[in-house]
Amino acid sequence: MSLNAALKLLIEEYPKAALLPFKGNEVAEFIRKEIPEYVSEITGKNDRYLVEGSPGKGNWAYVPWVAVLDRFITETVQDGYYVVYLVKEDFSGIYLSLNQGVTTVQNQYGSGAKDALRVRASDYLARLGNSVGGYIKGPIDLAVTQKSKLGPLYEVGSVCSLFYSAENIPNDEVLKNDLLNILDVYLILTSKENQLFNSNELEDDEAGLEYENLKKVRTHKRIERNKKLAEKVKKLQGYTCEACGFNFEKEYGEIGKGFIEAHHLTPIHKLEGDKVALDPVKDFSVLCANCHRMIHKSEFVSEVNEFRAKYIVKKS
Ligand SMILES: [Zn+2]
Ligand SMILES: [Zn+2]
Repeated sequence: MSLNAALKLLIEEYPKAALLPFKGNEVAEFIRKEIPEYVSEITGKNDRYLVEGSPGKGNWAYVPWVAVLDRFITETVQDGYYVVYLVKEDFSGIYLSLNQGVTTVQNQYGSGAKDALRVRASDYLARLGNSVGGYIKGPIDLAVTQKSKLGPLYEVGSVCSLFYSAENIPNDEVLKNDLLNILDVYLILTSKENQLFNSNELEDDEAGLEYENLKKVRTHKRIERNKKLAEKVKKLQGYTCEACGFNFEKEYGEIGKGFIEAHHLTPIHKLEGDKVALDPVKDFSVLCANCHRMIHKSEFVSEVNEFRAKYIVKKS
């Protein structure tokens, strides 16, 4: 099946399916498993993106969705911002929207959530400037009913979007281009967030870097500060520094337990475009805080063995 066929099927079958029991329903499964597969075919093999679809949790959602998450920004739809297909509640069409994780905002702001989302959306829009030329800017109309809880929040959370009416879902070529284009906008927003113009805020290993290199270093750090990923790396690779053998628990006892830093091995000059490899074993190493700082300053930022040979073994 193609994405075009999948979206049509979603619009046609969802209202009928939603009258049936949720558990074990085929359409629900289709949204969770199959549609994300068609979307992933378009995003290609890129560890950076997570694709998820949901017909609701425990019961039918008023607004079913399929989302593409940039793992540098968020790994859950409750948080951050991401690209998402949102079905209108009256099934008259589907939005492809750069939208926000509304749940976290709701928890934080309660009844002020709508305002908070609206303010943030316009802030993002301002940052995107003329990158959002052909898009619907700001709020969208999901034809929400009174019962819908998240729908109204997604309406105001939309930064920019495209709308496909049910009778007129574009062909696969157009769907593909639209998705790739809005992912570019997503990427632009992400990289704008990485930019720092205030030299007071530069970290010690960033001083004197050219703008392009600063952006790459920021991306590198963003990868390493992805908590879920870092946890996985540490679990699989252990807690002993690969460069110097330092182990925090051995040295400091209980308080050092589980303490180590994940270091991403893709050479910074190769961090171009949006593709990154994020295999927790192949693409990372674990380093103590000292070695981590120093490897970033050294000429061997991606080669732990060489770093060890020159700076650690030689000395001892
Ligand atoms: Zn070390
Ligand atoms: Zn690092």
